[in-house]
Amino acid sequence: MNILASSSDSVRATCADDCAWQEAMKSAIRAPVRLCRMLGLSAQQEDAAVRASRDFPVFAPLGYIARMRPGDPHDPLLRQVLPLADEMQPTPGFTADPVGDTAANVSPGLLQKYHGRALMITTGACAVHCRYCFRRHYPYGDGPPRSMQWSAALGQIECDESIEEIILSGGDPLTLVDSRLEELVCRLAEIPHLRRLRVHTRLPIVIPDRVTESLIAWLRGTRLVPVMVVHANHAQELNEDVAAALAKLVDAGVPMLNQTVLLRGVNDDAETLVELSRRLLDCRVMPYYLHQLDRVAGAAHFEVHIEEGLRIVRQMQARLPGYAVPRFVQEIAGQPSKQVLA
Ligand SMILES: *Cc1c(COP(=O)(O)O)cnc(C)c1O
Ligand code: SF4
Repeated sequence: MNILASSSDSVRATCADDCAWQEAMKSAIRAPVRLCRMLGLSAQQEDAAVRASRDFPVFAPLGYIARMRPGDPHDPLLRQVLPLADEMQPTPGFTADPVGDTAANVSPGLLQKYHGRALMITTGACAVHCRYCFRRHYPYGDGPPRSMQWSAALGQIECDESIEEIILSGGDPLTLVDSRLEELVCRLAEIPHLRRLRVHTRLPIVIPDRVTESLIAWLRGTRLVPVMVVHANHAQELNEDVAAALAKLVDAGVPMLNQTVLLRGVNDDAETLVELSRRLLDCRVMPYYLHQLDRVAGAAHFEVHIEEGLRIVRQMQARLPGYAVPRFVQEIAGQPSKQVLA
Protein backbone atom coordinates (compact mmCIF):
# COMPACT_ATOMS: atom_id res chain seq x y z
CA MET A 1 0.00 0.00 0.00
CA ASN A 2 1.06 3.64 -0.55
CA ILE A 3 1.06 4.21 3.18
CA LEU A 4 3.80 1.69 3.85
CA ALA A 5 5.68 2.65 0.74
CA SER A 6 5.91 6.21 1.99
CA SER A 7 6.96 5.21 5.53
CA SER A 8 10.54 4.58 6.49
CA ASP A 9 11.82 1.02 6.81
CA SER A 10 12.10 1.31 10.57
CA VAL A 11 8.44 2.24 10.85
CA ARG A 12 7.61 -0.66 8.59
CA ALA A 13 9.52 -3.03 10.80
CA THR A 14 7.85 -1.96 14.05
CA CYS A 15 4.29 -1.62 12.86
CA ALA A 16 3.86 -4.68 10.73
CA ASP A 17 0.29 -5.55 11.56
CA ASP A 18 -1.66 -2.88 13.41
CA CYS A 19 0.06 0.21 12.23
CA ALA A 20 -0.89 0.07 8.58
CA TRP A 21 -4.62 0.38 9.10
CA GLN A 22 -4.29 2.98 11.83
CA GLU A 23 -2.07 5.03 9.54
CA ALA A 24 -4.67 4.67 6.81
CA MET A 25 -7.29 6.09 9.20
CA LYS A 26 -5.02 9.01 10.13
CA SER A 27 -4.12 9.87 6.55
CA ALA A 28 -7.71 9.61 5.27
CA ILE A 29 -8.91 12.65 3.33
CA ARG A 30 -11.16 14.93 5.40
CA ALA A 31 -10.92 18.11 3.32
CA PRO A 32 -13.54 18.20 0.54
CA VAL A 33 -11.34 20.48 -1.55
CA ARG A 34 -8.50 18.00 -1.40
CA LEU A 35 -10.76 15.15 -2.43
CA CYS A 36 -11.98 17.18 -5.42
CA ARG A 37 -8.48 18.20 -6.50
CA MET A 38 -7.12 14.66 -6.21
CA LEU A 39 -9.81 13.56 -8.64
CA GLY A 40 -9.61 16.55 -10.95
CA LEU A 41 -13.12 17.87 -10.31
CA SER A 42 -14.35 21.37 -11.19
CA ALA A 43 -14.34 24.49 -8.97
CA GLN A 44 -18.12 24.32 -8.93
CA GLN A 45 -18.04 20.76 -7.57
CA GLU A 46 -15.49 21.87 -4.99
CA ASP A 47 -17.72 24.67 -3.81
CA ALA A 48 -20.74 22.37 -3.49
CA ALA A 49 -18.65 19.75 -1.67
CA VAL A 50 -17.46 22.29 0.88
CA ARG A 51 -20.98 23.52 1.61
CA ALA A 52 -22.61 20.08 1.72
CA SER A 53 -19.90 18.65 3.97
CA ARG A 54 -20.79 21.00 6.84
CA ASP A 55 -23.64 18.71 7.86
CA PHE A 56 -21.68 15.46 7.58
CA PRO A 57 -17.92 15.76 7.01
CA VAL A 58 -15.92 14.02 4.32
CA PHE A 59 -13.88 10.98 5.33
CA ALA A 60 -12.23 8.78 2.68
CA PRO A 61 -9.06 6.68 3.05
CA LEU A 62 -6.39 7.11 0.37
CA GLY A 63 -6.49 3.43 -0.56
CA TYR A 64 -10.22 3.75 -1.30
CA ILE A 65 -9.69 6.92 -3.36
CA ALA A 66 -7.00 5.08 -5.35
CA ARG A 67 -9.73 2.79 -6.73
CA MET A 68 -11.59 5.76 -8.31
CA ARG A 69 -11.14 7.01 -11.89
CA PRO A 70 -9.65 10.52 -11.81
CA GLY A 71 -11.56 13.11 -13.81
CA ASP A 72 -14.85 11.18 -13.64
CA PRO A 73 -17.40 12.90 -11.38
CA HIS A 74 -19.72 9.90 -11.93
CA ASP A 75 -17.27 7.32 -10.61
CA PRO A 76 -19.36 4.89 -8.49
CA LEU A 77 -16.92 5.00 -5.56
CA LEU A 78 -16.56 8.76 -5.63
CA ARG A 79 -20.36 9.16 -5.64
CA GLN A 80 -20.46 7.34 -2.32
CA VAL A 81 -18.17 9.83 -0.55
CA LEU A 82 -18.44 13.15 -2.42
CA PRO A 83 -20.81 15.74 -0.87
CA LEU A 84 -23.15 17.18 -3.52
CA ALA A 85 -25.38 20.26 -3.58
CA ASP A 86 -28.34 17.82 -3.80
CA GLU A 87 -27.78 16.92 -0.14
CA MET A 88 -28.84 20.40 0.93
CA GLN A 89 -32.22 20.09 -0.77
CA PRO A 90 -34.85 19.21 1.88
CA THR A 91 -37.17 16.51 0.52
CA PRO A 92 -40.52 15.58 2.08
CA GLY A 93 -40.40 12.09 3.61
CA PHE A 94 -36.65 12.16 4.18
CA THR A 95 -35.97 12.61 7.91
CA ALA A 96 -33.22 12.47 10.52
CA ASP A 97 -34.23 9.07 11.99
CA PRO A 98 -35.96 7.14 9.19
CA VAL A 99 -35.69 3.67 10.72
CA GLY A 100 -36.81 4.42 14.27
CA ASP A 101 -33.43 3.89 15.92
CA THR A 102 -34.19 6.35 18.68
CA ALA A 103 -37.28 4.34 19.68
CA ALA A 104 -35.39 1.02 19.51
CA ASN A 105 -32.70 2.17 21.94
CA VAL A 106 -33.35 -0.32 24.76
CA SER A 107 -30.39 0.86 26.80
CA PRO A 108 -27.58 3.29 26.00
CA GLY A 109 -25.61 1.78 23.13
CA LEU A 110 -27.99 -1.15 22.52
CA LEU A 111 -30.69 -1.30 19.83
CA GLN A 112 -33.18 -4.12 19.70
CA LYS A 113 -35.76 -4.33 16.97
CA TYR A 114 -35.89 -8.04 16.18
CA HIS A 115 -36.37 -11.22 18.17
CA GLY A 116 -33.23 -12.99 19.33
CA ARG A 117 -30.70 -10.44 18.18
CA ALA A 118 -29.57 -7.09 19.48
CA LEU A 119 -27.27 -4.52 17.97
CA MET A 120 -24.51 -2.87 19.96
CA ILE A 121 -23.39 0.61 18.97
CA THR A 122 -19.72 0.11 19.81
CA THR A 123 -18.48 3.44 18.46
CA GLY A 124 -19.65 6.34 16.34
CA ALA A 125 -16.56 6.26 14.13
CA CYS A 126 -16.36 4.84 10.60
CA ALA A 127 -13.52 4.30 8.14
CA VAL A 128 -15.44 6.08 5.41
CA HIS A 129 -18.34 8.50 5.44
CA CYS A 130 -20.97 7.19 3.07
CA ARG A 131 -23.16 10.05 1.94
CA TYR A 132 -26.30 7.88 1.91
CA CYS A 133 -25.80 6.62 5.47
CA PHE A 134 -28.96 6.37 7.56
CA ARG A 135 -26.88 7.07 10.65
CA ARG A 136 -25.56 10.39 9.36
CA HIS A 137 -27.73 12.23 11.88
CA TYR A 138 -27.57 9.66 14.69
CA PRO A 139 -26.75 11.35 18.01
CA TYR A 140 -23.77 9.15 18.88
CA GLY A 141 -22.31 11.82 21.12
CA ASP A 142 -25.37 12.01 23.38
CA GLY A 143 -24.87 8.74 25.25
CA PRO A 144 -22.82 8.22 28.42
CA PRO A 145 -19.03 7.71 28.18
CA ARG A 146 -17.77 4.68 26.26
CA SER A 147 -16.93 2.30 29.07
CA MET A 148 -20.16 2.96 30.95
CA GLN A 149 -22.09 2.53 27.75
CA TRP A 150 -20.79 -1.00 27.32
CA SER A 151 -21.61 -1.87 30.89
CA ALA A 152 -25.21 -0.75 30.48
CA ALA A 153 -25.56 -2.69 27.23
CA LEU A 154 -23.91 -5.80 28.72
CA GLY A 155 -26.19 -5.62 31.75
CA GLN A 156 -29.23 -5.43 29.50
CA ILE A 157 -28.09 -8.39 27.37
CA GLU A 158 -27.42 -10.41 30.51
CA CYS A 159 -30.98 -9.83 31.74
CA ASP A 160 -32.66 -10.86 28.49
CA GLU A 161 -32.34 -14.57 27.83
CA SER A 162 -34.14 -14.26 24.51
CA ILE A 163 -31.07 -12.60 22.97
CA GLU A 164 -28.85 -15.22 21.35
CA GLU A 165 -26.96 -13.10 18.84
CA ILE A 166 -25.09 -9.85 19.31
CA ILE A 167 -24.36 -7.65 16.34
CA LEU A 168 -21.37 -5.39 16.78
CA SER A 169 -22.18 -2.27 14.82
CA GLY A 170 -21.74 1.45 15.08
CA GLY A 171 -20.41 3.39 13.33
CA ASP A 172 -18.00 0.67 12.46
CA PRO A 173 -16.81 -1.64 15.26
CA LEU A 174 -13.54 -2.41 13.46
CA THR A 175 -12.38 1.20 13.89
CA LEU A 176 -11.73 0.10 17.50
CA VAL A 177 -8.39 -1.54 18.25
CA ASP A 178 -8.32 -5.32 18.63
CA SER A 179 -7.44 -5.22 22.33
CA ARG A 180 -10.66 -3.36 23.10
CA LEU A 181 -12.73 -5.60 20.86
CA GLU A 182 -11.21 -8.69 22.37
CA GLU A 183 -12.08 -7.43 25.84
CA LEU A 184 -15.67 -6.75 24.77
CA VAL A 185 -16.01 -10.15 23.12
CA CYS A 186 -14.66 -11.87 26.25
CA ARG A 187 -17.32 -10.16 28.32
CA LEU A 188 -20.01 -11.15 25.83
CA ALA A 189 -18.83 -14.76 25.78
CA GLU A 190 -19.40 -14.93 29.54
CA ILE A 191 -23.12 -14.41 29.01
CA PRO A 192 -24.37 -18.01 28.80
CA HIS A 193 -27.41 -17.51 26.55
CA LEU A 194 -25.41 -15.86 23.75
CA ARG A 195 -24.54 -18.16 20.85
CA ARG A 196 -23.42 -15.97 17.95
CA LEU A 197 -21.35 -12.86 17.41
CA ARG A 198 -22.03 -10.93 14.23
CA VAL A 199 -19.76 -8.11 13.07
CA HIS A 200 -21.18 -5.53 10.67
CA THR A 201 -18.30 -3.68 9.10
CA ARG A 202 -17.10 -1.87 6.01
CA LEU A 203 -13.42 -1.92 7.08
CA PRO A 204 -12.27 -4.99 5.09
CA ILE A 205 -13.63 -3.20 2.00
CA VAL A 206 -12.29 0.32 2.57
CA ILE A 207 -9.06 -0.48 4.49
CA PRO A 208 -8.23 -4.15 3.82
CA ASP A 209 -5.14 -3.86 6.04
CA ARG A 210 -7.60 -3.91 8.94
CA VAL A 211 -7.79 -7.69 8.61
CA THR A 212 -4.91 -8.34 10.99
CA GLU A 213 -3.69 -11.47 12.73
CA SER A 214 -5.06 -10.15 16.00
CA LEU A 215 -8.50 -9.59 14.46
CA ILE A 216 -8.57 -13.17 13.21
CA ALA A 217 -7.34 -14.33 16.62
CA TRP A 218 -10.24 -12.89 18.64
CA LEU A 219 -12.81 -13.86 15.99
CA ARG A 220 -11.63 -17.44 16.09
CA GLY A 221 -10.79 -17.50 19.76
CA THR A 222 -14.25 -16.89 21.19
CA ARG A 223 -16.73 -19.67 21.96
CA LEU A 224 -19.37 -17.53 20.17
CA VAL A 225 -19.95 -18.49 16.53
CA PRO A 226 -18.69 -15.60 14.42
CA VAL A 227 -20.39 -14.21 11.33
CA MET A 228 -19.16 -11.18 9.43
CA VAL A 229 -21.29 -8.97 7.22
CA VAL A 230 -19.27 -6.60 5.06
CA HIS A 231 -20.70 -3.79 2.98
CA ALA A 232 -19.70 -3.34 -0.66
CA ASN A 233 -21.83 -1.59 -3.26
CA HIS A 234 -19.81 -2.02 -6.44
CA ALA A 235 -17.36 -4.57 -7.91
CA GLN A 236 -14.80 -1.78 -8.35
CA GLU A 237 -14.46 -1.67 -4.55
CA LEU A 238 -13.22 -5.28 -4.50
CA ASN A 239 -9.65 -4.93 -5.72
CA GLU A 240 -6.85 -7.44 -5.14
CA ASP A 241 -6.01 -6.13 -1.64
CA VAL A 242 -9.64 -6.50 -0.60
CA ALA A 243 -9.84 -9.98 -2.13
CA ALA A 244 -6.76 -11.00 -0.11
CA ALA A 245 -8.23 -9.62 3.11
CA LEU A 246 -11.53 -11.41 2.54
CA ALA A 247 -9.67 -14.63 1.75
CA LYS A 248 -7.96 -14.47 5.16
CA LEU A 249 -11.32 -14.26 6.90
CA VAL A 250 -12.85 -17.07 4.83
CA ASP A 251 -9.78 -19.26 5.35
CA ALA A 252 -10.10 -18.62 9.08
CA GLY A 253 -13.56 -20.20 8.91
CA VAL A 254 -15.62 -17.05 9.39
CA PRO A 255 -18.89 -17.17 7.41
CA MET A 256 -18.80 -14.04 5.23
CA LEU A 257 -21.85 -12.19 3.90
CA ASN A 258 -22.22 -8.90 2.07
CA GLN A 259 -24.87 -6.23 2.17
CA THR A 260 -25.38 -3.58 -0.47
CA VAL A 261 -27.48 -0.45 -0.60
CA LEU A 262 -29.30 0.15 -3.89
CA LEU A 263 -28.02 3.59 -4.92
CA ARG A 264 -28.92 5.78 -7.87
CA GLY A 265 -25.83 6.60 -9.87
CA VAL A 266 -23.77 3.90 -8.14
CA ASN A 267 -25.31 0.48 -8.75
CA ASP A 268 -28.85 1.01 -10.06
CA ASP A 269 -28.70 -1.45 -12.95
CA ALA A 270 -28.66 -5.24 -13.24
CA GLU A 271 -25.32 -5.30 -15.05
CA THR A 272 -23.52 -3.61 -12.15
CA LEU A 273 -25.18 -5.72 -9.46
CA VAL A 274 -24.58 -8.97 -11.36
CA GLU A 275 -20.91 -8.07 -11.62
CA LEU A 276 -20.82 -7.28 -7.88
CA SER A 277 -22.33 -10.69 -7.03
CA ARG A 278 -19.88 -12.46 -9.34
CA ARG A 279 -16.95 -10.67 -7.79
CA LEU A 280 -18.21 -11.44 -4.28
CA LEU A 281 -18.47 -15.12 -5.19
CA ASP A 282 -14.89 -15.00 -6.52
CA CYS A 283 -14.01 -13.83 -2.99
CA ARG A 284 -16.18 -16.56 -1.41
CA VAL A 285 -18.50 -13.95 0.15
CA MET A 286 -22.25 -14.60 -0.10
CA PRO A 287 -24.57 -11.79 -1.20
CA TYR A 288 -26.98 -11.32 1.74
CA TYR A 289 -29.10 -8.18 1.47
CA LEU A 290 -29.76 -5.54 -1.15
CA HIS A 291 -31.23 -2.69 0.88
CA GLN A 292 -33.75 -0.21 -0.35
CA LEU A 293 -32.35 3.17 0.71
CA ASP A 294 -33.45 4.39 4.13
CA ARG A 295 -35.09 7.77 3.66
CA VAL A 296 -32.59 9.85 5.55
CA ALA A 297 -32.47 13.62 5.06
CA GLY A 298 -29.72 14.53 2.59
CA ALA A 299 -29.81 11.25 0.66
CA ALA A 300 -32.93 11.68 -1.51
CA HIS A 301 -30.88 11.89 -4.72
CA PHE A 302 -29.70 8.31 -4.12
CA GLU A 303 -33.19 6.82 -4.07
CA VAL A 304 -34.22 4.21 -6.64
CA HIS A 305 -37.96 3.50 -6.79
CA ILE A 306 -38.95 0.12 -5.39
CA GLU A 307 -40.58 -0.87 -8.69
CA GLU A 308 -37.32 -0.23 -10.47
CA GLY A 309 -35.43 -2.18 -7.80
CA LEU A 310 -37.79 -5.13 -8.30
CA ARG A 311 -37.17 -5.03 -12.05
CA ILE A 312 -33.42 -5.03 -11.46
CA VAL A 313 -33.65 -8.00 -9.08
CA ARG A 314 -35.72 -9.97 -11.63
CA GLN A 315 -32.99 -9.38 -14.21
CA MET A 316 -30.39 -10.57 -11.70
CA GLN A 317 -32.43 -13.72 -11.04
CA ALA A 318 -32.40 -14.47 -14.77
CA ARG A 319 -28.62 -14.33 -14.88
CA LEU A 320 -27.25 -15.72 -11.61
CA PRO A 321 -27.57 -18.86 -9.50
CA GLY A 322 -30.19 -18.41 -6.80
CA TYR A 323 -27.63 -18.15 -4.02
CA ALA A 324 -25.93 -15.23 -5.75
CA VAL A 325 -29.02 -13.01 -5.72
CA PRO A 326 -29.25 -11.00 -2.50
CA ARG A 327 -32.62 -10.61 -0.80
CA PHE A 328 -34.05 -7.20 -1.65
CA VAL A 329 -35.19 -5.73 1.67
CA GLN A 330 -36.52 -2.57 3.17
CA GLU A 331 -36.45 -1.51 6.79
CA ILE A 332 -39.82 -0.33 8.02
CA ALA A 333 -39.87 1.10 11.54
CA GLY A 334 -41.85 -1.07 13.95
CA GLN A 335 -41.84 -4.26 11.80
CA PRO A 336 -40.63 -7.57 13.33
CA SER A 337 -37.97 -8.07 10.61
CA LYS A 338 -36.65 -6.35 7.55
CA GLN A 339 -39.40 -6.39 4.93
CA VAL A 340 -38.48 -8.76 2.10
CA LEU A 341 -39.42 -7.15 -1.22
CA ALA A 342 -37.96 -9.88 -3.45
C1 LIG B 1 -30.84 -4.85 10.40
C2 LIG B 1 -30.83 -5.03 11.86
C3 LIG B 1 -30.57 -6.29 12.41
C4 LIG B 1 -30.21 -7.50 11.58
O1 LIG B 1 -31.27 -8.00 10.87
P1 LIG B 1 -31.07 -9.42 10.13
O2 LIG B 1 -32.29 -9.57 9.33
O3 LIG B 1 -30.90 -10.43 11.20
O4 LIG B 1 -29.82 -9.29 9.32
C5 LIG B 1 -30.64 -6.44 13.77
N1 LIG B 1 -30.93 -5.41 14.57
C6 LIG B 1 -31.17 -4.18 14.08
C7 LIG B 1 -31.50 -3.09 15.02
C8 LIG B 1 -31.12 -3.95 12.71
O5 LIG B 1 -31.35 -2.73 12.23
S1 SF4 C 1 -19.53 2.67 7.03
FE1 SF4 C 1 -21.66 2.13 7.42
S2 SF4 C 1 -22.23 3.26 9.30
FE2 SF4 C 1 -20.34 4.17 8.47
S3 SF4 C 1 -20.99 5.89 7.17
FE3 SF4 C 1 -20.78 4.09 5.83
S4 SF4 C 1 -22.82 3.15 5.78
FE4 SF4 C 1 -22.76 4.55 7.53
